[in-house]
Amino acid sequence: MKKIKYIIFSLVLAVSVVFLPGCQTEQSVDADYSALVVTGQNNHNWEASAPVLKEILENSGLFAVDIAESPAKGEDMSGFAPQFAEYDVVVLDYNGDSWTENTKKAFVDYVSQGGGVVVYHAADNSFPDWKEYNQIIGLGGWGNRNEKDGPYVRWKNDRIVMDINPGSAGSHGEQHPFRVVNRVTDHPVTKGLPTEWMHAQDELYSELRGPAENLTVLSTAFADSTKGGSGEHEPVLMTIDYGSGRVFHTVLGHIGGDGSRPAMECVGFIVSLQRGAEWAASGKVTQTVPDEFPRFNVLSSWDKLRSYTTDELLECLKNFHKGDSRVCLQDLISTIRNAASNPEELAKLEKKMIKFLESRATSEAKNEICRDISQWGSEASLPILDKLMKDDDTKEMARFARERISGEYSN
Ligand code: ZN
Repeated sequence: MKKIKYIIFSLVLAVSVVFLPGCQTEQSVDADYSALVVTGQNNHNWEASAPVLKEILENSGLFAVDIAESPAKGEDMSGFAPQFAEYDVVVLDYNGDSWTENTKKAFVDYVSQGGGVVVYHAADNSFPDWKEYNQIIGLGGWGNRNEKDGPYVRWKNDRIVMDINPGSAGSHGEQHPFRVVNRVTDHPVTKGLPTEWMHAQDELYSELRGPAENLTVLSTAFADSTKGGSGEHEPVLMTIDYGSGRVFHTVLGHIGGDGSRPAMECVGFIVSLQRGAEWAASGKVTQTVPDEFPRFNVLSSWDKLRSYTTDELLECLKNFHKGDSRVCLQDLISTIRNAASNPEELAKLEKKMIKFLESRATSEAKNEICRDISQWGSEASLPILDKLMKDDDTKEMARFARERISGEYSN
């Protein structure tokens, strides 16, 4: 199943992505891993979430992603038979009607024989009565789950505690941003991430119960009772070993009925999903942690589900005025810092900056670029700086940059 090159089974499919209800999309993409998002029924807006999951995984550059769409709720499920075994990882965005016995068996066989699984948000509400499914997801909620289904799992007194007290499973308070704490920091998924990071507005799933066999809680979040939460440190990122299979379970990523998706745009959600999926597919994580990953007290979102390109950052900066958000500027500067050791890359960036300084961008934006380019610019920047020195609004910073670049500046 490794290093999949998709089979081009017809000329038509080779040049276009085909989406057929009840079928899997087939693509001619060369990627390290193949992923299948299983969806089609959910108490959430799966028509919005499934393409987002696909895009997030593809944005990692590691995955070619197909979508398997089930028949609608209440319709005949007998023909729904995703080819799990053809994929390195199956992403569950499904909460709905039972699958056929054959499809259920194919899924369990796939996982136990070494397949990867990502359990996303309300997929852990699904199939309360399917024993193996609950072993695979580790913990679930709602669907009349209670103490008969297994313990609550919480972080208490510096360790994971199983709580077998009676009670229903599955709840969440009002949506709000909350802090995620990584309890295991040397797992491939969490290694290198900030230990504590702010997650954007989301439902904080709480009081989940399940078999919790071979379960590792990677991260928890405190469900604040003032927000209607359980008052417990609840698991939010988990892994489960099932047979030879690897399961990554994220309860994060609620999407609104109208498609609003602050939780899915959180860089923490995106990056943990990408890393969890790679780990589920391969047992390792090769992705680096982006500079924009949220911090202890800093939220961070990607409205495009990825970091902006340099051109997009410059476009965003074009109308910059004093007092505006400096996020685009900071991201641009960190792009430049990351390129500092690569002269070729830096020369390319300088060309883009020169073009920006020649554009109709605001003087405030140009001054910010002049300030930065003063630290690393080359002689190539001197002509445009000369020009900017003739403009009252930019002359001071342009002169400063010019003198610094040409080595005439002393202070
Ligand atoms: Zn939700």
